[in-house]
Amino acid sequence: MTRRYDDQNIFAKIIRGEIPNSTVIETEHTLAFRDIQPQAPVHVLIIPKGPYVDHADFAANASEAELVDFARVTAQVCEAEGVISDGFRAISNAGVHGVQEVPHYHLHILGGRALGRMLARA
Ligand code: AMP
Repeated sequence: MTRRYDDQNIFAKIIRGEIPNSTVIETEHTLAFRDIQPQAPVHVLIIPKGPYVDHADFAANASEAELVDFARVTAQVCEAEGVISDGFRAISNAGVHGVQEVPHYHLHILGGRALGRMLARA
């Protein structure tokens, strides 16, 4: 089951050019831009331009061209931001349990400092 896509979400508005963004890399299918409230020295969001709600929707329904382009842009962002050698974290929140704020699939790339454990122990 795929959640319904809401084309009024803020990332859809960024893709349509209705809201500005700080672009890192843009291709035909993918946009990488800086998070407006960075949680680490490097905090870049990577989004497909197509209308996908979350990672599962994108993985199930995107074309091969979109999937490959997204993966390649992810690598290019990590290289350009200089986080390959010291490491980074790639996170994608989904739905209520994942505490996803913006219902357009996005991958957070975080780095530039030691990030601690991924989750607090319950
Ligand atoms: P998530 O909780 O995974 O949905 O994360 C949404 C992220 O989008 C948050 O880290 C926000 O700081 C970020 N964000 C929200 N609005 C904008 C915007 N206009 N430009 C860049 N990042 C944004």
